[in-house]
Amino acid sequence: MSQVLPGDTPVIHDLVGIGFGPSNVAMAVALREHNARVGRQEAVTSHFFERQPRFGWHRGMLIDDATMQVSYLKDLVTLRNPSSEFSFLCYLQSKGRLIDFVNHKNFFPLRVEFHEYFEWAASKVDDMVSYGHEVVSVEPVLSEGGVTHFDVTARCGSEEVVHRARNLVIGTGLRPRLPEGVTRSNRIWHTSDLLTRVGELEGTDPSRFVVVGAGQSAAENVAHLHRRFPGAEICAVFSRYGYSPADDSGFANRIFDPDAVDDYFSAPDDVKRRLMEYHGNTNYSVVDIDLIDDLYREAYREKVLGTERLRFLNVSRPTAVEEGPEGVRVTVRSLLTGEETPLDADVVVFATGYHPADPLPLLGEVARLCRRDEEGRVRVGRDYRVMTDPGVRGGIYLQGGTEHTHGITSSLLSNTAIRVGEILDSVLEREAKATDDETGALADGIGSAR
Ligand SMILES: Cc1cc2nc3c(=O)[nH]c(=O)nc-3n(C[C@H](O)[C@H](O)[C@H](O)COP(=O)(O)OP(=O)(O)OC[C@H]3O[C@@H](n4cnc5c(N)ncnc54)[C@H](O)[C@@H]3O)c2cc1C
Repeated sequence: MSQVLPGDTPVIHDLVGIGFGPSNVAMAVALREHNARVGRQEAVTSHFFERQPRFGWHRGMLIDDATMQVSYLKDLVTLRNPSSEFSFLCYLQSKGRLIDFVNHKNFFPLRVEFHEYFEWAASKVDDMVSYGHEVVSVEPVLSEGGVTHFDVTARCGSEEVVHRARNLVIGTGLRPRLPEGVTRSNRIWHTSDLLTRVGELEGTDPSRFVVVGAGQSAAENVAHLHRRFPGAEICAVFSRYGYSPADDSGFANRIFDPDAVDDYFSAPDDVKRRLMEYHGNTNYSVVDIDLIDDLYREAYREKVLGTERLRFLNVSRPTAVEEGPEGVRVTVRSLLTGEETPLDADVVVFATGYHPADPLPLLGEVARLCRRDEEGRVRVGRDYRVMTDPGVRGGIYLQGGTEHTHGITSSLLSNTAIRVGEILDSVLEREAKATDDETGALADGIGSAR
C-alpha cells in the first residue's frame, strides 16, 4: 500500500475515470454540467484515462447501414437533463441536420451517426481525458488508518503517470468472447474485427465466409460480407432453427427504464433470474426484424434465380477450426443428425458475443478489500458503488459489469444518462457526509478542550 508522503504526492482528483467510452464520456459531461452549476468552490475535480489514441466506439462494427438499437433520446444526457447542450439533438443542430432528421421520422439513427455524436460530445470535454493512456494498476493509499485514496497508474508508451483519486469510476466496457481454444488470427475473426480486417481482403476474391452465431452482430456480418463480396458464399452456422426477432415492443421495453433498475435491484435472486429469462430476448441472441426480413428476402431471391450464395446451417455448431496456409477449415456438426460437414473458407467470423471486462484484476490489492457474493461476483450498492471493507473510504463505482445487481441495462446505453447522475449524487453525498463528520469531530475536539 502507498503511504501519503508530504512533498511526494501525485495530482489528486475527487474522481478518476478508467476508460472513456460512452459511459465515462457521459460521466465527464455530468461533472462538467455540475461544476458549471455550482461554481468553482464546490466543483468536483476529475480526470479520465482512455487507452485508445482517440475516441472510438466499436469501430470494427461501424457498418455504414447499421442502425442503433436504442432511441436517440437515450443519448448521453437527455433522460437526466433534457435541456443539456450535449444532447443528440444539439449535435444534429450543430451539423445542420436537425430538420432533416425530424422529417426522417425515425428514433433509431445510423450507428455511424451516433458514433459521430459521441465523438462530438467527447471532443467538448477532451480537456478532462488523456487518450493513449492504459490504466495498468490501482494501488490503495493508506492515510488516517484507512484507504482514503487510490493511486491510478496509466501507461502511455514507455511512460507511466500516477494520478491519485478519492473515487474511481470504472467504465472499461466489454471484451470479445470466443469459444474456448479459439484464438483470433488473419483468418479467424471476432465480429468486433470486421471492419478493421475486411479491408485486407480487398482485391483477393474470397470464395467463402463462415459466420458463427445468430445474434444481431452475426446477422449484420452475414449481410455485410454478402453485399461486399459478390463472388463469395456466406455460410451462417447457428444452433437455433432460425434468427429470432428482438422484442422491442412497448411493455417489454420497460425493462430498460430507470425504474426497472430499482425493481431489479431489490428483487430476490430467483425473480432476478426469471426477469432475465423472460426479457433476455430484448437484447441477447436476437436480431432486428427488418434485418431478418432483408436476409430472408435475399435468400429467397437467390433460390428463385438458382444462384444461392447465402447458406444457413441451422441447428448446427462448429466442432473444429483448423487454419492452413490457404484458408481455414471449419467442421460443422448437425445437432439433429450428428453429421459433420467440413467447410473450407477464407475466413471464419465468430459472432459469439462479449463479456464485461472484469474490474477486479485491474484493482490489484484493492480487489481484496471488495466484497463478493456466494457466486464470487462483486457486491455493488444501488449507487453502483462496490461494497468494500469499512476501512475503505474512497469510492469505487462501476459502469458496466453490474447485470447481476442492476439488470439488463448494465452494459447498454439505455440508462447511461441516469446512471452517471446517480453516481455523481452518491459521490457528492458521501463527500458532504465526510465533511460533516470532520466538522463534527473538530467541534467535539474544541468542546472537550474548553
Ligand atoms: C457493435 C455493438 C453495437 C452496440 N449497439 C448498442 C446499441 O445500439 N444500444 C445499446 O444500448 N447498446 C449497444 N451496444 C452495447 C455497448 O456495450 C454500449 O453501447 C457501450 O459501448 C457501453 O459503453 P461503455 O463506455 O460502458 O463501454 P465501451 O464502449 O466498451 O468503452 C470502454 C472504453 O474503456 C477503454 N478501456 C478499457 N480498459 C481500459 C484501461 N485499462 N485503461 C484505459 N481505457 C480502457 C476501452 O478502450 C473503451 O474505449 C453495442 C455493442 C456493440 C459491440
